[in-house]
Amino acid sequence: MNNFLITPIEYLKGVGPQRAEVLKKELRIFTFQDLIEYYPFRYVDRSEHHKIRDLVDLEGFAQLRGRITQFVDSGTGRNKRLTAKFEDDTGMIDLVWFKGASWMKKSLQLNKEIQVYGKPKLFGNKWNIPHPEISTIDKQEVGFQPVYSSTERLSSMSLNTKGIEKIVRNLLEENSIKFEDILSDSFRTKYQLVARDLAVRGVHIPKTEQQVQAARYRLKFEELFFLQMELLMRKKIAIQKSKGFVFTKVGDHFNSFYSEVLPFDLTGAQKRVLKEIRRDMNTGHHMNRLLQGDVGSGKTLVALLSMLLGIDNDFQAALMAPTEILAIQHFESISDFLKEKNVNVALLTGSTKKKDRTVLHEQLLNGEIDILIGTHALLEDVVQFKNLGLVVIDEQHRFGVKQRARMWKKNTTPPHVLIMTATPIPRTLAMTFYGDLDVSVIDELPPGRKPITTLHKKEANRLRVFGFMKEEIAKGRQVYIVYPLIHESESLDFNNLMDGYEAISRSFPLPDYNVSIVHGKMKPEDKEFEMNRFVKGETQIMVATTVIEVGVNVPNASVMIIESAERFGLSQLHQLRGRVGRGAEKSFCILMTGDKISQDTKKRINTMVRTNDGFEISEVDLQLRGPGDLLGTQQSGLLDLKIANLSKDGHVVELARNAAKEILTEDPLLEKPENAGIRTKLNSMLRSRPNWGKIA
Ligand code: ADP
Ligand code: MG
Repeated sequence: MNNFLITPIEYLKGVGPQRAEVLKKELRIFTFQDLIEYYPFRYVDRSEHHKIRDLVDLEGFAQLRGRITQFVDSGTGRNKRLTAKFEDDTGMIDLVWFKGASWMKKSLQLNKEIQVYGKPKLFGNKWNIPHPEISTIDKQEVGFQPVYSSTERLSSMSLNTKGIEKIVRNLLEENSIKFEDILSDSFRTKYQLVARDLAVRGVHIPKTEQQVQAARYRLKFEELFFLQMELLMRKKIAIQKSKGFVFTKVGDHFNSFYSEVLPFDLTGAQKRVLKEIRRDMNTGHHMNRLLQGDVGSGKTLVALLSMLLGIDNDFQAALMAPTEILAIQHFESISDFLKEKNVNVALLTGSTKKKDRTVLHEQLLNGEIDILIGTHALLEDVVQFKNLGLVVIDEQHRFGVKQRARMWKKNTTPPHVLIMTATPIPRTLAMTFYGDLDVSVIDELPPGRKPITTLHKKEANRLRVFGFMKEEIAKGRQVYIVYPLIHESESLDFNNLMDGYEAISRSFPLPDYNVSIVHGKMKPEDKEFEMNRFVKGETQIMVATTVIEVGVNVPNASVMIIESAERFGLSQLHQLRGRVGRGAEKSFCILMTGDKISQDTKKRINTMVRTNDGFEISEVDLQLRGPGDLLGTQQSGLLDLKIANLSKDGHVVELARNAAKEILTEDPLLEKPENAGIRTKLNSMLRSRPNWGKIA
């Protein structure tokens, strides 16, 4: 059976060497097995015929039976089209071809009964069916049918969707073939999964919609289940192998900070996460935890408390940020928090002077420095610690896996790792992509925050937006205006930014107004100078590119204006909005767009206007962009799913993960006879991708 499925595809009836060559090249179908796993991407229901009279109420595709009574040619050149008047016993509708008109006209006959399949569209106030599929009555399409995606080349070798359907049938009708179940009966009953053989047949040659549903569910579940099993097993193996420091004490630093310095209570979510972190640090294994939480939810504070725990246990801690501005802000706020405490905090960035570095390196080695805060500069090999116990990485998605791994190597025993991100990842996606990390979530903002009001405005409203800015500035507030500059070298973007800056400077003249500007083409020291003027309140308006996206904290800024908002992704818009709403004042985010915007843009803008919840936003982002774009990840192995879809099958991911966890709890080594099939398959998965998905 297994051997049969790995037969090269050219040996299948209806394929042969030539087609096999193209199947391999264009669809990566090498074996029978690959063909079986080449699933239809949709289905059409050809079992029902509609009447023209009823089409007004129909959504989706229509199948009609009737005759063409007349052809009408119209237009010339690119506007050329063919219209066929098509009638049944209830009415008449136009069939329209914009391409291949003359060929269609030749191949169709007047007054001969045919079957027509297509999607009725309203043009002006008239219904018609553009480019319908036509079949003669003797060869009419019936029943429920799969649709496979094909390529031009394959279609030219008669392997269009119909052709692929045919070879799949040839394979499934081999009388020896039966798809055996690797999931036990009890497992299948528990999770309501149809037998594998039924599922494979049901997905390729279904008779009814229900059959397709059941088949697809079973196959998706199985695919996601094994993915989760693999992730959980890898995690288990990694944990067993890892040795981590044990932070046993809760000592003076932590306690006195908590009771004397901290000016507020921790939120429930912060307390919960802190508990999770403390538990990790007590297991004797290496902590690898992802901390997700919206901007301003208090992640940094949790990180600081964790670092103090480390210091209480005679370890050093490091905090790494993706930009210099951010590192400096962390350094300043943490130094400020700890100013009365006997904790030595140091800063290391690309601009740290050589002389200072030498001293710093020494102090790190002899343990004088307790907390080191900095940028990528921390990763350099010359940066060595006496006893590094915890590394906190802010804004995880900016650092690659490899970069992170370099932090580990600073000790023989790897330091605990806490990765903080303000870009929420949908839960189900996190379960998969970070299946081998532990995930903590701060899903609660500190009390007293006023939600940010978000508005969508178009160019015609600009003067009123400027008027609003003036009102806010008159109240003593500050304003950000952000321009897209996705690739810092794009000169067009740069010109927009400069034009914008000039327009702002004209509308907000000196001496009443001072305007700062920050962009990626500036020298770091100039950037910092401008940034600082804004931080100190010397300027009221900050015109900037997305360099200010991450972390910058100016509590007095209460208005965020995003220019060309259509050019930003949802998570970026959300990040930018997070720059305001940090003080006591009511804050606003104004999204400026052109007059005409696409459906996707509309959806993004409306989502921003509707909610401030980063997780809700991330769910919409996932729907719009799909998991690959969302994560910008190289772990493409995870995206290589055959039938499940991480943006749509979130609930199945969750069920499959729970099933996997349950199995591993009941039968950790998969020794029970009913789990033998699972064990075999899992072993071969683990063997075939030894280094895949490794985070640490
Ligand atoms: P994040 O790193 O998640 O963006 P921070 O830790 O920087 O958030 O916290 C944002 C602001 O909220 C800081 O000024 C911080 O001091 C404050 N803050 C954090 N936790 C609390 C809390 N529990 N109650 C009140 N304010 C808090
Ligand atoms: Mg932060």
